[in-house]
Amino acid sequence: MKLNEIQLTNPYLSLPQECHDRVEPSPLVKPFLIHANEAVAKMLDIDADELQTENFVKLINGEYQADGTESFAMCYAGHQFGHFVPRLGDGRAINIGTINGLHLQLKGAGQTKYSRSGDGRAVLRSSIREYLMSEAMHGLGIETTRALAIIGSEHKVYREDWERGSIVLRVSPSWVRFGTFEYFAHKKKYKELESLADYAIAESYPHLIDEPNKYLHFFTEVVGKTARLMAQWQAVGFNHGVMNTDNMSIAGLSIDYGPYAFLDDYDFNNICNHTDQYGRYSFGNQPNIGEWNLRALMAALSPLVGMDNMQKSIEHYGRLYTREYLYQMGRKLGLEIVTKEDTDLIKHMLGALQELNIDYTLFFRTLSRYDGDRTEILKLGLYHTPMNDWLDAYDKRLEQNERSAADRHATMLQANPKYVLKNYMLQEAIDEAQKGNFKVVDELFQIAQDPYAEHPGFERWAGVTPEAFKNRKLSCSS
Ligand code: AMP
Ligand code: MG
Repeated sequence: MKLNEIQLTNPYLSLPQECHDRVEPSPLVKPFLIHANEAVAKMLDIDADELQTENFVKLINGEYQADGTESFAMCYAGHQFGHFVPRLGDGRAINIGTINGLHLQLKGAGQTKYSRSGDGRAVLRSSIREYLMSEAMHGLGIETTRALAIIGSEHKVYREDWERGSIVLRVSPSWVRFGTFEYFAHKKKYKELESLADYAIAESYPHLIDEPNKYLHFFTEVVGKTARLMAQWQAVGFNHGVMNTDNMSIAGLSIDYGPYAFLDDYDFNNICNHTDQYGRYSFGNQPNIGEWNLRALMAALSPLVGMDNMQKSIEHYGRLYTREYLYQMGRKLGLEIVTKEDTDLIKHMLGALQELNIDYTLFFRTLSRYDGDRTEILKLGLYHTPMNDWLDAYDKRLEQNERSAADRHATMLQANPKYVLKNYMLQEAIDEAQKGNFKVVDELFQIAQDPYAEHPGFERWAGVTPEAFKNRKLSCSS
């Protein structure tokens, strides 16, 4: 499809007026393309050669309006660091319409009714982080929003200093957040709350449309999806950093990439968000926060569903989380069948990684080739005894595996990425991009798309993080 053949629809606008606000994007000055995602273009049926056209840059910049464009911002509320904020919303994201069930949104396209004191802009560094990380999550097999393209500009945007404005065209099958429900519940607008629940069910849980008790089933499924997402984040070593309820997707997607981090050396207590003084959103606390956020959603849905019933659903959260986490870790360890008895093996391993400050990703990739010779694994930590003790337990456990070592290696190499986008890597891409060189953005994009492949040309991204850059915190200012 050519850009002039696009026909956008706007299903969200069928919701009551209180749910959205019509707003036009404010284009950036002198926009230029930094990167476009052909895989996402394909999902949208947009021809690959259209991505190199001037109109494409204009589309991302909100200057070229595809047929059917009706741009709007969505409102939502949210618990930020545990405190309720009744009115947030798309302060700098402007929705332009939907293709093939994917909603297109321009992040950084100017102010909306929900901007509060913000300028509606996104700077280059935060846009690069969002663009690359959403692709990396997808490459890792974790459900996430995606992005069609990123543009830079000469538009001046002030943060701690003057920076350049940028826009990412994000796409997602859902932009509804836990906080969207909290917004209407808090205002006691129960009709709108019900319409929103019906909308979210039709959009993300269509098999529930005709179910009796559909709102209860809906909540139950959100519990399951959230438990799964948390387990996937923990297994891959992803620290989101800002798990406010407005950053929690009702469809169980990873959304709103801010000061996130992939673990460098394994650290259960890792905090990646500079403003997270008490570690509310630390790596190890994420599964608990997932449940806390579900309880906030539960309160918001209570005008539609009895609390007692939802209480029963949420009581399964811990079990669902543990089951999924065990499954994920079993795959990473190459175990054919994983049971609760393996919990000790996993805890033992994490204890050794923590004690020895071992790189989380590199450890599993190295373990994926383990054949009894411990040399490569022992090299990862300074002291050998804790790792030798764990490997003794692992060797014993592997005796119960029926599959051959070669089979185990092959499956583990598909479960343990060689590459994750650590912050020091993203920083290099950003530093180069600030100088007008987007080669590293493209390199990281390539490894993000297929992080389990070897990519011999990109070996330098597969090692331990340089000491000075390990486990650093990032500021929220973006
Ligand atoms: P975040 O922490 O990025 O999830 O953002 C929290 C809230 O602040 C959301 O409602 C955002 O839309 C809004 N926001 C963040 N940055 C800006 C900005 N530069 N201008 C306007 N609103 C913003
Ligand atoms: Mg957000």
